[in-house]
Amino acid sequence: MKYSVLLILTLCLGCQQTARKDISSAADLYPQDFLQQVEKLRDMALTDDTAYQLIESLTTEVGPRLGGSPADAAAVTWAMDKFKSMDFDKISLEPVTFRRWVRGPETAEIIAPFPQPLKITALGRSMPTPKEGITGEIAHFATIEDLEAATDDQVQGKIVYISNKMLRKKDGSGYGPAVKARSMTAKVAAEKGGIGAIIRSIGTDSHRGPHTGATRYQEGESTLPVGALSNVDADLLDNVLKRNKPVTVRYTLGSDWGDEYTSYNVIGDIVGREKPDEYVIIGGHLDSWDLGTGAIDDASGCGITMATASLIKQHIGQPRRTIRVILWANEEYGLFGARAYHAAHQHEMNKHIIGAESDFGAGRIYALASRADVASMPVFEAMAELLKPLDIPYVGNKGYSGPDLIPMRRAGMAVAGLYQDGTSYFDYHHTPEDTLDKVIPADIAQNVAVWVVFTALAAEYAGDFGFGLSD
Ligand code: ZN
Ligand code: ZN
Repeated sequence: MKYSVLLILTLCLGCQQTARKDISSAADLYPQDFLQQVEKLRDMALTDDTAYQLIESLTTEVGPRLGGSPADAAAVTWAMDKFKSMDFDKISLEPVTFRRWVRGPETAEIIAPFPQPLKITALGRSMPTPKEGITGEIAHFATIEDLEAATDDQVQGKIVYISNKMLRKKDGSGYGPAVKARSMTAKVAAEKGGIGAIIRSIGTDSHRGPHTGATRYQEGESTLPVGALSNVDADLLDNVLKRNKPVTVRYTLGSDWGDEYTSYNVIGDIVGREKPDEYVIIGGHLDSWDLGTGAIDDASGCGITMATASLIKQHIGQPRRTIRVILWANEEYGLFGARAYHAAHQHEMNKHIIGAESDFGAGRIYALASRADVASMPVFEAMAELLKPLDIPYVGNKGYSGPDLIPMRRAGMAVAGLYQDGTSYFDYHHTPEDTLDKVIPADIAQNVAVWVVFTALAAEYAGDFGFGLSD
C-alpha cells in the first residue's frame, strides 16, 4: 500500500514534469524539420567565415568612418553593395541628418612643476581650444560626483581633471559608472567657472592611446573644450599631483563643428513569406570613431548580423516574418540613426516584433537574455535548448540590448540580449587600437552560430513577444 501510493505519487510527479517540459519544448513551437535545419546551420556557422570577411572588407576598404566624413558615405555604398551581392530581398536607405564634427590637431603637456608631454585626444563633440591652447592650474577630482559637489571657488579659473578608473568586468558593467565623467565633465566644469576640462580615458588598458567618445551637452548649454588623457598619462599626472604642488598643464584641441550632413541607415531585408510587414530587427552601427578602423566597434556587429540573415536565407529559406538588418548611422555622436528610424516608423512600432543589436565587440557570446512578454518564454527556452551544445544558458527576462534599440525599446518593442565576453573590449574601445587584429575569426563564427539560433527562431515563431512592456 505504502509503496503503491509512493509509486502513484512518483508517477504523477513524473507526468507533471514531463507535461511541463513538453509545453515548453521546442517541438511544440516549431516543426521538427525546421529545428533540424537550424541545428545544422548553427553547426555550419561555427566554421563559416562570411562575417569575418565582411569585417575585413569594411575595415580594409573603408576604414575609420566618423559620422559625416567622406568615409561615412563610402561605408553606406559599401553596405548597399554587400547587401546586393548577398542577395538580400530588399535594400533601402533612410536619411539621418546631423551636424558634422571634425577632429583637429591635439596636444597636451605638463608645464610645471615637471615639464613633459602627455597623450590626449578630444572627446567627440568637444569645442576647440583657442589656437594657443588653454593653460592653467589643475583642479583635481577623483570622480564626476566630487566635481558636482565642489564649490565654484575650487574650480574657477582652473582646468578640471577627473581621474576615475574604469573597472574591468566580463559584462562591461564597469563602463556605466565611469563613463559619466566623459559625458558630463565639460558641462559641469563650465557651469562652475572652469577654463578647461580633461579626464582619464574611459578604458581598462595601460596603453598610450587615449580613448575618445562623445561628451554631452545640448546646444546653448555651457561646455568647455574637453580631452581624454591615455591611462598611462593619467597615471603620470596622478603621480605629479601626489607631490602636493600646484600643477600647470597646457592643452590644445583643434576639433570643431561643421555644417549639416545627411547620412543613411542602410537596411537589408529578408522578406517574410507569411508576415512580410512584421520585423525581427538585428544589426550593428555602421559608423565608427576615427582613431582606429572601427573593427570591434562596430564592424563586428555589422558583419555578424549581415552574415546571420544571409545564411538563414541561403540554408533555411524565407522566414515566416521579415528579418531586417539595420546598419545604423552615427551611433557614436548620440544615436542619430536610431532616433531617425524610430521617428520614421513610429506609426508601425508594434510591427517590430523583437530586436537585438550586436555592439559589444568581437568576444564570444556566453549568455542569452530577453525582455519580452512572459507568454513568449517558451521561445527562449527553445533557443536555450539549441544553444546548449555551445554552453550558452538563458539568463532571464531582465535583458538589455544595444544602444541603437533604446528608442524602440522605450516605445515598447521586446528585445533580446546576446551577451558577449567584454573582458578586453574596453582595452581597445574608441582607441587607435580598435583594429582587425583584435577580431578572432573563430569567435566571430561562434557569434554567428548563436545569432542564427536567435534570429531564425524569433522570425519563425507564430506568436509574438508582447509590446508596450513598461521600462
Ligand atoms: Zn558601438
Ligand atoms: Zn562606440
